[in-house]
Amino acid sequence: MSPYPHLLAPITLSGVTLRNRALMGSMHTGLEETGDWSRVAAFYAARARGGAGLIVTGGMAPNHEGGVFPGAAGLFTDTDIANHLRVTDAVHADGGHIAMQILHAGRYAYGKDCVAPSPIKSPISPFPPQQLDEAGIEKQIADIATAAARAIQAGYDGVEVMGSEGYFLNQFLVTHTNRRTDCWGGSYENRMRLPVEVVRRVRTAIGVKPILIYRISLIDLVPDGSNWDEVIQLAQAIEAAGASVLNAGIGWHEARVPTIASSVPRAGFADLTARLRPEVTIPVITSNRINAPGVAERLLADGAADMVSMARPWLADADFIAKAASGRAAEIAPCIACNQACLDHTFSGKVSSCLVNPRACHETELTYAPTSTPRRVAVVGAGPAGMMAAMVVAERGHKVVLYDKATETGGQLNLAKRVPGKEEFHGLVTWFDTMLRKTGVALRLGQEVQPIDLAGFDEIILATGVTSRDPNIPTDPGARVFSYADILTGADPGRRVAIIGAGGIGFDVAESLVHQGQSPALDPELWRIEWGVTAPWTDRGGLSPNGPAPHPPAREVHLLQRKAERPGRKLGKTTGWIHRSYLAMKGVRMQGGVNYERITADGILLSHGPDRKDPALLLVDAVVICAGQQPDRSLSEKLDQLGIKHHVIGGADRAIELDAKRAIDQGARLGSQL
Ligand code: NAP
Ligand code: SF4
Repeated sequence: MSPYPHLLAPITLSGVTLRNRALMGSMHTGLEETGDWSRVAAFYAARARGGAGLIVTGGMAPNHEGGVFPGAAGLFTDTDIANHLRVTDAVHADGGHIAMQILHAGRYAYGKDCVAPSPIKSPISPFPPQQLDEAGIEKQIADIATAAARAIQAGYDGVEVMGSEGYFLNQFLVTHTNRRTDCWGGSYENRMRLPVEVVRRVRTAIGVKPILIYRISLIDLVPDGSNWDEVIQLAQAIEAAGASVLNAGIGWHEARVPTIASSVPRAGFADLTARLRPEVTIPVITSNRINAPGVAERLLADGAADMVSMARPWLADADFIAKAASGRAAEIAPCIACNQACLDHTFSGKVSSCLVNPRACHETELTYAPTSTPRRVAVVGAGPAGMMAAMVVAERGHKVVLYDKATETGGQLNLAKRVPGKEEFHGLVTWFDTMLRKTGVALRLGQEVQPIDLAGFDEIILATGVTSRDPNIPTDPGARVFSYADILTGADPGRRVAIIGAGGIGFDVAESLVHQGQSPALDPELWRIEWGVTAPWTDRGGLSPNGPAPHPPAREVHLLQRKAERPGRKLGKTTGWIHRSYLAMKGVRMQGGVNYERITADGILLSHGPDRKDPALLLVDAVVICAGQQPDRSLSEKLDQLGIKHHVIGGADRAIELDAKRAIDQGARLGSQL
């Protein structure tokens, strides 16, 4: 019997029977905006082939003013319908079902024509919205209903009406954004009139059979958000208005609480759907930080929901359900919730992809075709770049030997996985090990490779990684100086610590140093206390009136950098604020614009600015160096001297701003070409 009987059980929504209970949640990938609809179709068809029960597309604008940004994709013309038909045909040909999300951004629309219930600017957009009048509101409702009718014309099995995350419909629900005094504002009944009317009109527009998903905000995580009675009242009214199913939305985009980052506990918000489910008769879908079939199965078996929404996990692995259903769950590439190649790309105007799966959204261009001329390939370095290259090359039919001087695979990933909040990296290393075994890669660990060892190979790939940069700061005898690797592998630097370098690793080290006890990412109760999250049945919006109550820091930490800018400015677009807020909550003192004059037995002597002003000794017990990396090309140089051709990838190629995303992408691309 399958270990996932609940997840793999069919379910009927309105007139459509789905083959299982896995919903691929809506993600904006940017593919539609490329205008290359064969890419869009290939992306969704791969997920249909991989077993998704129901796919929900990225949000489509119902009109110009409601688009997330000017020019956002929608379904406005006959050509649009023809393009979308290519997608729905491809998904149906692969046995899947697909619904189109209609997303009206309201005041989150990044454009000067944005509209909202009241003229209150959002903190995450520079554009003040125009307040809608009665006719304007009617136009928005009509446009959403028209978009829904067009979606059915374009072959979709239904639509999802986006009512959460602080978008347009959500903006009507709460006084935080709705200050109207007409029949669309004031009492809760008036404030929920718009979402309910939208659902009623959409159902009328699409008929009885298609699926109508309503994405309902279960916890707003903003001041004056909905309380639980209001959520239930809305859910019941939405059901009565014709929705087939309710999908959980968690937190507004402007919320100062993380909701999907790796430091959020897995399934950390599923208690909300569990509480909603008995209040309605239609099915409910749970979501957020669910990335493994075992977690999804447990939630369904426990009655927390009728379906499980996973979005990013379908970027990490297009065959998520196919693998789970065929006893290959260990082969599912895990989404590590890093946001680096998906949401960070979206917010930088780039097409999404996935750190662990560079083929995501690049299905037509990056392929791992079987080779007709198998060769012997040596890969040196079992970090992310080397493991990915070895895996892809072996999958394509070459004979691969993977070497590393360490006695375990993983390279720098083995340091990342020790950082509190980055526990998902454990799964990534385990997945690589599984795939290396499956693809028949021969491992030679604990071996420092010399050129002679590489004789007889047809191709040599060096992924020898990086060495830490030595900032060459004058250092007195008796000074205690640690590397970041020392700290992440458990060295104790004492009670007061200065960190030199405030890049990604400086932040990771600071988080490790202030942390004590259980990681909040593994303990939902602890995590809620740290971030000031309660529940909407206790406090409006689910925010504690007392705010975050972080566990006291384990030690005093100073995070330093030479640049005068704010430390952490270059961290990920969608996760940097979380790291900055967390360290601020833990009392970490950040300083930019410093010069490191000398490390002494009592601390570090700092001066300030280009004129090296105000030298002063910062009293600390130890200093940790996180001053960036340099390529380790020692083997490459030896091979060059002997005239032996080889490829260099990952940090050994370019250490600046190296991270696992670039390393894995480079490994995959080289591996696809050999
Ligand atoms: P990094 O991000 O390049 O940061 C290096 C830090 O060292 C900077 O703060 C830099 O600031 C300082 N520095 C550089 N040269 C120095 C010198 N000669 N003396 C003193 N300080 C110096 O490198 P990293 O922190 O080692 O991280 C490596 C890569 O891993 C980065 O791409 C990073 O984004 C990635 N990573 C990402 C995450 C994540 O969460 N996404 C986490 C960890 C690592 P100043 O020059 O201003 O002093
Ligand atoms: Fe998940 Fe990171 Fe891939 Fe995004 S880039 S899908 S968060 S693993």
